[in-house]
Amino acid sequence: MTSHPDLGHTLPLHLGEGLWQELLAESQRRGESPAHLARRLLSEALDLEHHTVYQVSTSGALVQGVFQGCVRVADLLRHGDFGLGTFAGLDGEGILLDGTCWQARSDGSVREAPADAEAPFWVATHFRADRQDTLADVQSWEDLTSRLDRLRDNNNLFVGLRLEGQFERMHCRVACRAEAGTDLVSATSHQAEFQLENVSGTLVGFWTPSYARTINVPGYHLHLLSDDRQHGGHVLDLHCRELKVALHREDELHLALPETPDFLKADLSGDPAAALAVAESKHS
Ligand SMILES: [Zn+2]
Repeated sequence: MTSHPDLGHTLPLHLGEGLWQELLAESQRRGESPAHLARRLLSEALDLEHHTVYQVSTSGALVQGVFQGCVRVADLLRHGDFGLGTFAGLDGEGILLDGTCWQARSDGSVREAPADAEAPFWVATHFRADRQDTLADVQSWEDLTSRLDRLRDNNNLFVGLRLEGQFERMHCRVACRAEAGTDLVSATSHQAEFQLENVSGTLVGFWTPSYARTINVPGYHLHLLSDDRQHGGHVLDLHCRELKVALHREDELHLALPETPDFLKADLSGDPAAALAVAESKHS
């Protein structure tokens, strides 16, 4: 093996006959040498992962009550180390943080999600902060979102958000298991809500552009995981004296669509934004 930072690196790579033939055929189709093609595919695959939102199913399907699991936690972990979602049957709130997936349940408990647990909806990324800041005296959800708006530099790319602090007040909810076919607004009308005080933790989530509202939850969507891993949920309101904020700009979207019977049958032609606003924000 030759290796020199200025001249590049040569990697002896053993390919099985099947993969080699595929590579040869593809290089002929594209008119590129096998080595050039292999280098390009590798760099695409690696770079893609750094700015990609990997998403399973759509917010529109969730609103329609498509809660059947379609991807295993073990598979989610291959697409990101950070993210949020829910579990089959709307069984609680999911938090993926530093490569570990946690399940907050409506009885108030939090556990590490089993590798074979399934999710009907999930958003993940490989989180790398490209902007950091500290917000002092965040008074409420509205205050937080308007101050985060000023840290984003545009309205058309997705943003991963990792916020850390000691929360004087935290209001979050955890969805309760729902019967198949229940729509999201009905399912979350009897959600479990928790008022926590002086809990330190991390908020994991995303900002989604308005044009993507049939796919993801438009605007800000954040889930809490406390540092002691005892509390978690979907954030409704908060107060925090000092919040460390990290933003990660995302310009690729990998959308994995379920092939479950529920998803294939669902009517996804409508605009779910109004229902999402009811289901995902504070019931005043
Ligand atoms: Zn949520």
